[in-house]
Amino acid sequence: MSAPEVRRCGKCGAAEAVCEREWQHTTMGVPSGSTTRDFCCQACGHRFELVPMRRVWTFTALSVLLGWTCVFPLVGGAMALAGYWPYMANPVVVGAPQPAIRFRATTPTRRCAKCGGVARCLTVTRTRSRGLPTGTTFDYACEACEGAFTIGSPGGHVFNVVAASVCFVMGFGCLPFGVVLWLMGLGALALSGFQLLAQVRNPLIAEAVEG
Ligand SMILES: [Zn+2]
Ligand SMILES: [Zn+2]
Repeated sequence: MSAPEVRRCGKCGAAEAVCEREWQHTTMGVPSGSTTRDFCCQACGHRFELVPMRRVWTFTALSVLLGWTCVFPLVGGAMALAGYWPYMANPVVVGAPQPAIRFRATTPTRRCAKCGGVARCLTVTRTRSRGLPTGTTFDYACEACEGAFTIGSPGGHVFNVVAASVCFVMGFGCLPFGVVLWLMGLGALALSGFQLLAQVRNPLIAEAVEG
């Protein structure tokens, strides 16, 4: 491994953006070898995410293959572009010195709905389904009462709603199997509903400002 990558911040132009966290992707719980990297500019605090290039290619290929659906190329093309954009906007600066770390990744804490204690995020899971990112889930555990809850990312909710819509529409087309699809769609909506409920019941605790 060479020196850690330094990228030019797309927002302020300083060559001070470094990787602050690396996420291992898993497929059915098994590390898939590809990682998503979160970068943070140490000059202005701008954050961006670099998804595996394989994901960008997957979306590009799917957009072409599913061109006949008219809907997927719009979504898939946008996802491919969104994945590739940070690579272009924040290019690698070869030989740049490592900047001093001024911004640290913070783990948000939440107020436990059961006892009012402090719940911390223990694990972050980025889920994918058949190569498609289906959002991120955050597993929280309360320090006081051992209550646990899971919160989904906005992307995950969007995916669940889209998946549910697809299930409902396809369910109409292929009765009697359509009932199974409807149930799957309802399941996806219920999952998002539970996570949103947990999000509301266990609100974020405002981070104490470092003195
Ligand atoms: Zn910056
Ligand atoms: Zn608690």
